[in-house]
Amino acid sequence: MDSAQIVQLAGNGLFHRVDLAAVGTLLDDCARCTVAAGDTLLEPGAVNDCLYIVLRGELRVYLEGHDSPAHSIVGAGECVGEMSVINGQGASALVIAAADSELLVMPQAILWTLIERSHSFARNLLAILAGRIRMDNLALVTTSSRSLEFEQAASVDVLTGLHNRRWMTDAFPRSIRRCVQDGAPLCLVMADIDDFKAINDELGHLTGDSVLRAVARRLAESLRAPDLIARYGGEAFAILLPNTTTDEGARIAERLRLSVELMSLAKVAEGASGKLTVSCGVAPLGLDTEIDTLVSNAEVALRRAKAGGRNRVEVAA
Ligand code: GH3
Ligand code: MG
Repeated sequence: MDSAQIVQLAGNGLFHRVDLAAVGTLLDDCARCTVAAGDTLLEPGAVNDCLYIVLRGELRVYLEGHDSPAHSIVGAGECVGEMSVINGQGASALVIAAADSELLVMPQAILWTLIERSHSFARNLLAILAGRIRMDNLALVTTSSRSLEFEQAASVDVLTGLHNRRWMTDAFPRSIRRCVQDGAPLCLVMADIDDFKAINDELGHLTGDSVLRAVARRLAESLRAPDLIARYGGEAFAILLPNTTTDEGARIAERLRLSVELMSLAKVAEGASGKLTVSCGVAPLGLDTEIDTLVSNAEVALRRAKAGGRNRVEVAA
């Protein structure tokens, strides 16, 4: 491929409206190289002092390693390496040949000569760089919004839509610390669906899931704005009530218990009869403000509620 053919090949990119006379014999002074499919051309951080124009074949550019999807594909007439060759720093991306490819290797000195000789070439290079920056920004935005999605997915229980225990171990202690600082009271309620195993056994696991979702929604709807709720595990829910005395905590737990009792199991699960209830254990904040202590105190009270016949509220001693 001679100079004129290369200028024509890159006619939509680097050589758009570039006068062949300005190019002269510069391209003849550039080396050619071939890379086999799978070969690495550029690695992040590695020194690069050439710009590569693809004469034949195809390259793939990866920003986050080879295992992630390719950021862009570079075909015949397009170039790579322009960022690092201009700023003299290491390559910013991983570039791998997707097919056996032939490349024109343009050293830094020839690149600068072309910039000096041809305004069009300089303008094309700026346009290519601007496009790269825009694409990279887009990738950054996508990556950060994707990591936000991951973060959210990691803290939400898929079945009920409530926060999960992982989130709880972060959020509850923060709320507890605030109450301790303000010298305010606080209660933790553990609520557990009664005889849930029987619901699963009689109506099937999928119906059990619907019941679980409905109870979660009912509990969440019955709370005040600063209260926090999480699915603790299985059919148990942990509820944190900031600025709440023991008496208020017991009253709120009783209201939660009643609101579930008033749900009709028949409405939640077609063909079901019988009662849907929860038992609650309430633990007020004591001298020990550790979340684990609060949870285990509330669980002791919950076990008492179960032993006392279920569908009831017990307060930790
Ligand atoms: P108790 O009144 O003493 O709490 O009795 P229980 O039957 O509610 O408690 P038990 O611990 O004996 O059984 C709980 C059942 O909940 C067993 C488990 O398979 C079921 N379970 C846990 N998580 C899920 C879930 O996500 N979906 C469904 N459908 N069932 C679940
Ligand atoms: Mg249960």
